[in-house]
Amino acid sequence: MLALRKTEAVPGVVLTETAVPRPAGDEVIVAVEAAGICGTDLHIADWTGGYEAMTSAMPVTLGHEFAGRVVGGAGIRSGQRIVVRPSVVCGTCPSCLGGRFERCTSRTGIGIRRDGGFASRVVVPAVNCIAVPDGLDAEIAALTEPMTVAAEAADRAMIRPGARVLILGPGPIGLGVALFVEASGATDIVLAGRDDAARFACAHALGFPATIDVGDRPLAEALRTGGQDRAFDVVIEAAGVAALIPQALDVLDQDGLLVVVGIHARPASLDLTRLVRAGQTIRGSYRAPIATWSRVVDRLSAEPERFRRLITHRLPLSEALDGLAAMRDRSGVKVMLDPQMDMVAT
Ligand SMILES: [Zn+2]
Ligand SMILES: [Zn+2]
Repeated sequence: MLALRKTEAVPGVVLTETAVPRPAGDEVIVAVEAAGICGTDLHIADWTGGYEAMTSAMPVTLGHEFAGRVVGGAGIRSGQRIVVRPSVVCGTCPSCLGGRFERCTSRTGIGIRRDGGFASRVVVPAVNCIAVPDGLDAEIAALTEPMTVAAEAADRAMIRPGARVLILGPGPIGLGVALFVEASGATDIVLAGRDDAARFACAHALGFPATIDVGDRPLAEALRTGGQDRAFDVVIEAAGVAALIPQALDVLDQDGLLVVVGIHARPASLDLTRLVRAGQTIRGSYRAPIATWSRVVDRLSAEPERFRRLITHRLPLSEALDGLAAMRDRSGVKVMLDPQMDMVAT
């Protein structure tokens, strides 16, 4: 079968034929119906740093945001439609024993350190599968993983009704955060980005008209020029740009909360005395607890057409490199790959 794989610890990925995997006793085999390309996949493909730990697992099939149908193995009936939590936990570390599986210290990521969903078939532990309703399209179901990341960031932002919220980085996570903070009661939501025309168009289509192109200006100046000079109750950083962290504190209100969900290649430098005097809080947000997954599936099922607007490209797996290019040049918001399209073609 065709698979998009990382074979060496250098820039590049390959589309290659690989053997159809076989499930072990506690695993199922999944026919992948839709798999989203994540910013992480682009970092891994371009080998920009931060993923050296996956070298020992290569060659490995990428893809950690996918939905499909169980077609074999134990524990789940064949035909069941599912999404897959990519985090395979050890079950024996103190976090796992305490029931905080999202904090497992010896985790293996599906699509990072074991074969993932950029292939027509993938083998995953049965316990990692979450059932989805038959009425939910595969491409919407495949948004579950990134939307759990967005929902977790929104939860950690502890939004109060009427909150004024700034989201830095209008990618799929930032846009998802907008949808979830709105549901939590935020009424004044601004998205800021840079060279993000396609993503701003998506924000507008989702019902978030307030977008600010920061360009090369300081964030506070760009917001002021855009008529957004009032301080924010909450800022959520989903851009992964370290230089934005002190600038985010500049536009955050006294006692405000900055939630950082972006993955940063560089350390940030902060004026901590200012932070102390302003009583501001910085909080990280990463993997969502398991309970969030069914909540997100319910939300996707309730508003599929709204979430579908996040998907800008639908491609067969054989055109995955074009999909990565659309992410790289920022013309894509969420790019969905469909491995079954290639099966029909051949
Ligand atoms: Zn991802
Ligand atoms: Zn563990």
